[in-house]
Amino acid sequence: MSRSPAVVVRSDACLLHVPGAEIWVGVRTPGTELPERATRIEEVLRRAGHRVVDATTHDDDVLLRVHEPRLVEHLRTVHARWVEAGFPVEPGQDRVVPYLMPTAGMLDGLPEREPVAVHAAAGRYCYDTMTLVGPGTWEAARAAVDATLDAVDLVVAGEPLVYALVRPPGHHVTRAAYGGSCYLNNAAVAAEALRDAGHERVAVVDIDAHHGNGTQAIFYDRADVLYASLHVDPGAGWFPHYAGFADETGRGEGAGANLNVPLAEGTGDVDWLDAVARIADAVSRHGATALVVSLGVDAAAADPESPLRISHDGYETAGRRLASLTLPTVAVQEGGYHLDTLGDLVAVTLRGLCG
Ligand SMILES: [Zn+2]
Repeated sequence: MSRSPAVVVRSDACLLHVPGAEIWVGVRTPGTELPERATRIEEVLRRAGHRVVDATTHDDDVLLRVHEPRLVEHLRTVHARWVEAGFPVEPGQDRVVPYLMPTAGMLDGLPEREPVAVHAAAGRYCYDTMTLVGPGTWEAARAAVDATLDAVDLVVAGEPLVYALVRPPGHHVTRAAYGGSCYLNNAAVAAEALRDAGHERVAVVDIDAHHGNGTQAIFYDRADVLYASLHVDPGAGWFPHYAGFADETGRGEGAGANLNVPLAEGTGDVDWLDAVARIADAVSRHGATALVVSLGVDAAAADPESPLRISHDGYETAGRRLASLTLPTVAVQEGGYHLDTLGDLVAVTLRGLCG
């Protein structure tokens, strides 16, 4: 069955987030999650003949079930509060950067209060120093949710494969905390919206090079949404460090509905595709009637952000294996940072997903 070409949903507003920098081990480094990522991908997909449509707006209903309302409100307002507090002038930081995180060890059981100071509130919701909030961050992240919800609507209306060309990415965002260059969890929104549309069992397959700790956390206690990911082994020292291990298999009602396949540094097509096949089998066993693909292409050999060595052919084969599930599919863009190749990588993955 061929599902070609895919429909692509995009939004100009997704370009409004400009990271400016990442603060990594205390050092200001150039941000890599750039607007140009989206424009490069769009250029290639238009040339490949996919139908490209603009996102429309949606209310916060699904978003507020995936995330705690206080996180959404924080992201919506924090940059204006930061500006109002004068930080762009003194000490000269125009992006929201946390300086104190209220870890479980710090609070030691005390209630997590809402701090008055915006620079303290920043660390309540953001768990790293690399994920800065600038003037257009909220608009871009919220537009990514809109584009994702459009992709779900199109699939529910009968399109077999729709790709949400979004940024910033989302799979590192938990119910109440953001990080890893992500602000709102688009893939989780897609899964939740597919549930709303009547799909009783949904699978999220995350092929980004990094473990989607946020998506895992959001569905960890639930049996209805399988989260399955292959990624560079956090136990070998890779982000997100604290999640993504093979023994994380779900909890309570969600026991057995979480599958992590950590991979060694340097893993190439053969072992990566074995993991994709294992995950596809798990999706079948789960009985999913709809599929969300967290489509990161940062496992590619040329990508600067991970040590995996996947080829263009590997991505296309992975897409074809997932297409063989013959499930209505929403693909959501996650990572992928090598500007010269990421458009082609997305295009070949979609070609595979077209079956
Ligand atoms: Zn990644």
